[in-house]
Amino acid sequence: MSIFISSKLPHAGATIFTTISSLAVQHQAINLGQGFPDYPMSTELVNLVNQAMQQGHNQYTHANGLPALRQALVHKIQLLYGQPYHEADHITVTPGGTYGIYTTITACIQPKDEVIILEPAYDCYAPAVELCGGSVKRVAINPSNWTIDFAAIETSITPATKMLIINNPHNPSGKVFTKEELDEVERIVLSHNLILLADEVYEHLVFPGQQHHSVLGRPALAQNSMVCFSLGKTYNCTGWKLGYVVSKNEQLMTEFRKVHQFNCFSVNTPLQVAFSQYVQQPQPYLEIGGILHQKQQLLQQLLSHTGLEPMPCQGGYFQTYSYKKLSDASEMDFVTQLITQYGVAAIPVSAFYGEPTENGLIRFCFAKKTSTLEAAAERLKKLGN
Ligand code: PMP
Ligand code: GLN
Repeated sequence: MSIFISSKLPHAGATIFTTISSLAVQHQAINLGQGFPDYPMSTELVNLVNQAMQQGHNQYTHANGLPALRQALVHKIQLLYGQPYHEADHITVTPGGTYGIYTTITACIQPKDEVIILEPAYDCYAPAVELCGGSVKRVAINPSNWTIDFAAIETSITPATKMLIINNPHNPSGKVFTKEELDEVERIVLSHNLILLADEVYEHLVFPGQQHHSVLGRPALAQNSMVCFSLGKTYNCTGWKLGYVVSKNEQLMTEFRKVHQFNCFSVNTPLQVAFSQYVQQPQPYLEIGGILHQKQQLLQQLLSHTGLEPMPCQGGYFQTYSYKKLSDASEMDFVTQLITQYGVAAIPVSAFYGEPTENGLIRFCFAKKTSTLEAAAERLKKLGN
């Protein structure tokens, strides 16, 4: 007899990243879709993990995270954002940013609570809310210049609204929030007493001349917030899946830890030992914005004769392009053509919306070797012809 369960995520299939990466493999396309670097990570960091394993750091560590790593992170936050946090109460190490986001939502959202997300939105927010029985309210970011309509956010708030989720720097657009935009977020969150889930996994990936305004630098806002980070992004090791969550609100962090201890309990020990030393060096996280900016500039230059038009982008791993001058096809159809006819994979921006939304936009990941970007551009050379 077959067992019947009714799906908790009836509308979900494989994520767009899995779908596009599989299609890219199938057609031997250069994968500028899923966001991961194709260049090597720091050998010093790899060696630190090896050493940690050789030295026997191979058993469970503290459920909230290795104390030495939390201390190093507290120090780094003080240095960068000028605010005191405490390792005992304010930081929990997680197996990646996605886990931090999921656990925050699970700990905070009850059935019928409403959560506002800004679209285009990273794909893991809405399903987590849905799994908790909450409902998602979607507010669009202007797709022609990535400005945020704060009046629309306020209009969508009801007595059931519990949480606002922001992602800064933003995936897929590469938008970096201005100070004034974060002022508006703060005003709305505090005046409506919402929980802010701030996804800051691209914290350090901001281009020269831009500044990342972290929620952690604002003591009042941090009281209402859970801020999620990913070490995989900052240190070119997305496959390691290590991150952390920071909050000034001890009640929120206590509830987070209750869920965390029964889901994961403690996170990979040797990686934490290695990072407890490596995060103390400012150079790797201070230089990554400049490195990525060069890659973004190179991609723009290489694609400048294709008819693809770059959208504003100030950070992150991704550059969005409008293909409206080239085609009327849907974003998924256009991406499929790029993969099957030109051998280059991209992500349709429509995948970041809950309702069908077509703006003629695709996303390329530029966190790639020069040779990869050049090879992709070579394949796309005939696009405009
Ligand atoms: N948030 C955003 C906006 C992302 O792009 C990603 C993908 N890295 C994550 C969260 C998840 O991070 P991690 O791989 O550490 O789970
Ligand atoms: N964050 C990555 C991206 O946006 C993908 C990670 C994943 O595949 N879930 O491309």
